[in-house]
Amino acid sequence: MLIAGNWKMFKGPGETAAFCADLLQLLDDDAKGVDVVVAPPFVSLQAAVAELEGSPIRVYAQNVHWEEEGAFTGEISRSMLIAAGAAGAIVGHSERRQHFGETDETAARRASAALEAGLGVIACVGETLAEREAGETEAVLRRQVEAIAVAVPEPPGELDVAYEPVWAIGTGRTATPETAQEAHAFIRGLYPVERILYGGSVKPENAEELLAQADVDGALVGGASLDALSFTEICRTAARLSRS
Ligand code: PEP
Repeated sequence: MLIAGNWKMFKGPGETAAFCADLLQLLDDDAKGVDVVVAPPFVSLQAAVAELEGSPIRVYAQNVHWEEEGAFTGEISRSMLIAAGAAGAIVGHSERRQHFGETDETAARRASAALEAGLGVIACVGETLAEREAGETEAVLRRQVEAIAVAVPEPPGELDVAYEPVWAIGTGRTATPETAQEAHAFIRGLYPVERILYGGSVKPENAEELLAQADVDGALVGGASLDALSFTEICRTAARLSRS
């Protein structure tokens, strides 16, 4: 089970160091047996890495480019992330797709390049509300997952897929456990990835019912990951379920 916190555009280096120190205090033995990742903004990566050094908590970036260097303003390369101590990156997040022109193809290129460099990857997929209401959920997921499968035909253990229905991200509206399970089973049937995370308004109150689903292997948490207590609570729930 993997619990990953996507901090989006929150927490500079100072807040990051303080948050990570709290997390180390809070993530006690009750949270053992679950993989934990935090994904701060680029400028806060090194602060997180320094604070978490020696702990099993890994630090991911929120994006990565496929080229080594070049005229790509606003982007960051794999070796820059590795030099900062990051262990992986999120790619294809719906906010990148919605606001910054990320496509299935660019998300897949990012995933493949990052894996080649030895980084872990959380590749995000998910349908919008309009697509769900039009009955296009499976077609959209198929298109998004197949783009990744073409770039990475045999998914290594370092690749996690996150199913994040866009209508559930930051809206407080969570997919029902059944809806999540159905989508996860569909994705698993398309692509033999080891872990499929659910993302979309996961919080301590709903984590258990979502994580208890057969094909839900963890969570990508946005809003609730910004609070050390809520995030720890979700990690503890995942650890408890992994033990049972
Ligand atoms: C996310 O940013 O990946 C996410 C799922 O956000 P939230 O938990 O706030 O819906």
